[in-house]
Amino acid sequence: MIVDRFQRPLGSLRVSVTDRCNLRCRYCMPEQEYVWLPKESILTFEEISRLVSVFTSLGVEKVRLTGGEPLLRHDLPTLTRMLAANSGIRDLALTTNGLLLAKQADALKQAGLGRVTVSLDTLRPDRMRELARTDRHADVIAGIEAARMAGFPLKLNTVVIRGVNDDELVDVIGFARIHQAEVRFIEYMDVGGATGWSAEQVVSQREIIEVLSARYGPITPVTTGDLSAPAERFRMPDGVTFGIVASTTAPFCRSCDRSRLTADGTWFLCLYAERGTDFREPLRHGATDAALADLIASTWRGRTDRGAEARLGLVTRTPLYQVDGLRADPHREMHTRGG
Ligand code: SAM
Repeated sequence: MIVDRFQRPLGSLRVSVTDRCNLRCRYCMPEQEYVWLPKESILTFEEISRLVSVFTSLGVEKVRLTGGEPLLRHDLPTLTRMLAANSGIRDLALTTNGLLLAKQADALKQAGLGRVTVSLDTLRPDRMRELARTDRHADVIAGIEAARMAGFPLKLNTVVIRGVNDDELVDVIGFARIHQAEVRFIEYMDVGGATGWSAEQVVSQREIIEVLSARYGPITPVTTGDLSAPAERFRMPDGVTFGIVASTTAPFCRSCDRSRLTADGTWFLCLYAERGTDFREPLRHGATDAALADLIASTWRGRTDRGAEARLGLVTRTPLYQVDGLRADPHREMHTRGG
């Protein structure tokens, strides 16, 4: 097992397959136009699959396909099939906004995808229009339904923002129950892309639990399961479980085994890291698997990142970047790093 300077293992890899997205969520990608990664820099499926094999040979067992919007990448089931053939991957998942999921759910299931997380911030189409600039709320719901019918274990990601959707916590839990999904409430994070972030808009884990326990009764932490997972899980008196990703107010850096590969092959060890390590050039210039493995292992062994805890320690907290800073380096964007 390869561990970093804080004894954290190299465990889970998020693979962004595109930096493009068909939504413009105000907390992630609020501008209309961006500096996109050049087309020729985007890794092919063969390159992604080979690189992932090197990662799994070093202990990575969990792989999540993300983006941008991963379902915008042409023929994602083919990449899924290639990854599913990798016996080192114990957990192959997808995070999607769901817009294109209804059409692809069956093909993804047949290709060997293990589970799906759909982002759903609101049950109200008018709110989604405001929040993400789309009229296609119904397509997201159809995507959730199709994923369930295809037999996927389902999670719903809900970023909670004060004054925007914090009055929907109970409704989202109710919706998830009907659709046999588990909710992950996510605290609003000051990641790259979130140029409108402010501390006042963050609804904390504590507040989320207060609201839900006022409605459902005492809520208890679930202490079994994957402790390196970003969400802390909770159980309500009726047995329904949900998670909270409290990266903003109660970061979990000390158990973080996650890293992120961008669509152009840059590897980031933390969502907040200033720089990543380029794998595209070595991949395209004849590096052997052993050389790629050496680069991964030596980079991970030197890892000291604890970005969310460092942000929590700031006296004054403002957005991580403003638009100019993001334009100067698109790798700083959340939609490039992958959520
Ligand atoms: N397009 C896909 C989707 O919408 O799920 C995958 C990429 S998206 C960047 C992954 C996750 O990051 C989504 O659940 C999204 O809500 C979350 N996210 C993006 N910006 C965020 C922010 N500022 N704070 C918290 N979560 C954020």
